[in-house]
Amino acid sequence: MKSPVVIAIDGTSASGKSTNAKLVARALGFIYVDTGAMYRTLAWHCLQKRVDVQDPKAVAAACRKWKTSLRCVDNQVRLHTDGYFPEKEIRTGEVSAAVPHVAAVPKVREWMKKTQRECIRFGNLVMEGRDIGTNVFPETDFKYYLDARLEERSRRRAAEGVRENLAARDQRDSQRAVAPLMIALGAHVINNSEMTAEQTSSAIIADLRQRLAASK
Ligand code: C5P
Repeated sequence: MKSPVVIAIDGTSASGKSTNAKLVARALGFIYVDTGAMYRTLAWHCLQKRVDVQDPKAVAAACRKWKTSLRCVDNQVRLHTDGYFPEKEIRTGEVSAAVPHVAAVPKVREWMKKTQRECIRFGNLVMEGRDIGTNVFPETDFKYYLDARLEERSRRRAAEGVRENLAARDQRDSQRAVAPLMIALGAHVINNSEMTAEQTSSAIIADLRQRLAASK
């Protein structure tokens, strides 16, 4: 087995990536990495600094000057910005609307890929996002792609108290020029519209246990 191991979980917005990636990481004793939180943190930083998120040059400049550090707390990687971890602040509708603009900037994606690859220093990873299997760790043998019907995903987001246009965000994420959201070659695709998080994570864990044992 190649070490450290990276398990890539990509998929559409509100397809259950975070819940399932956390359950898989806990079951295997791996470190959980939420790459969406990193993009959200940059979007939040831009909003705080009054940087126009629709101006790619301004966003690239803000990213270049950005003071960050990676920490691993309770088996989860956190990106601190100016020494602070904005856990709650990055979950607002305003940040969700700003983040796909920031995420489409090539210099931002370059910076994120480098930073996300550095997470390997913490150990075996379960990393969730949009381009982990296609772009950040394309060499990993363990790739999953989650999806669910739009109405079901919107229902899940609303249950968390967040109202947003998921279809618009997915469209931006799928149509950007650099590292768009798409199914990685060899990814195991799971549509979990009719499945609970328990059922989805159990399917991933069972598949992984088998494949990890076979690769030893
Ligand atoms: O996963 P989450 O919904 O928190 O991601 C927020 C946004 O961050 C996505 O809609 C996308 O624009 C961006 N993102 C990305 N690539 C990743 C993770 C997130 O472009 N690997």
